[in-house]
Amino acid sequence: MPSGSKRRKSDRQIDFQTVLDGIAKAVKGDLKKGRVATYIPALARVPKSKFAMAVLCNDGRQAACGDADEAFSIQSVSKVFTLTMALRAEGTSLWRRVGREPSGNRFNSLIQLEYELGIPRNPLINAGAHVVTDSVVNRDPNGKQAILDHVRRLAGNKKIKFDEEVARSERAAGHWNAAIANFLKAHGNLKSDVDRVLDAYFHQCSIAMSCRDLVRAGSFLANRGVDQRTGERITTVRESKRINAVMMTCGLYDAVGSFAYRVGIPAKSGVGGGILGIIPGFLAVAVWSPGLDATGNSLAGVKALELFTTRIHKSVF
Ligand code: GLN
Repeated sequence: MPSGSKRRKSDRQIDFQTVLDGIAKAVKGDLKKGRVATYIPALARVPKSKFAMAVLCNDGRQAACGDADEAFSIQSVSKVFTLTMALRAEGTSLWRRVGREPSGNRFNSLIQLEYELGIPRNPLINAGAHVVTDSVVNRDPNGKQAILDHVRRLAGNKKIKFDEEVARSERAAGHWNAAIANFLKAHGNLKSDVDRVLDAYFHQCSIAMSCRDLVRAGSFLANRGVDQRTGERITTVRESKRINAVMMTCGLYDAVGSFAYRVGIPAKSGVGGGILGIIPGFLAVAVWSPGLDATGNSLAGVKALELFTTRIHKSVF
């Protein structure tokens, strides 16, 4: 064997608990480096010392470490779940209203939307998520509740809730999102009332769930559209492939290239400090660390995922 190379373990031999415990130790010094999101005042109070990670494999193996049962604000990770609903209901015609290219801009940027005439670059930036949420609430008078029910069903946890304080706090400070939604409306790319879309959007972002909930909710994306726990088909194989593709190219805003370089898996981040990652055909992994880097992604969370794919020798590349 060449010097420095180790024999790789087969997938079955990976001891996920040991891997996660090792990562929790390795990122300890990084937890204080990030900055908690303050533009949503209710998020500013979350301690930076929090850290959690959870894994759920398609074969049922699971592991978790740190505060993995503590609920946190999933924020933009919710965009994956509403995209799943909208694609199921609307099919590919959704892509007439929203693109699927990386934006290369901040998640709440308005610039591109102006010169691209109200068609957001992708469904995982704020502008695109408003279009997706509009697609859900326009079809269903109880759309906001339908989003929560969908997430509860995916996670197998009826106790998952909206955090009304976070939703109120974001609404009170939500001028930027209001500008985006009004701009979309002016371009005829929102069907429902602006206030209705914003209310559903702020609520979906406020959903509070734990890393353990998140890996269960995301497991269908690792498992070709089938819920690992219940065996229920959530999406077609093709839809899950496409959602993973959009996560891979658009899931970490304008840091998506360096995330692909460092971590190498489809993922979606949120400003609450959570990231859901998928290794298609193998597992779902979630991490939570509230301190963010300059691009709005969890600083220690990205590092933890980088260590994870490195230590288990798995990525999509
Ligand atoms: N609710 C946040 C917002 O709209 C979500 C952004 C995020 O998590 N990146 O600004």
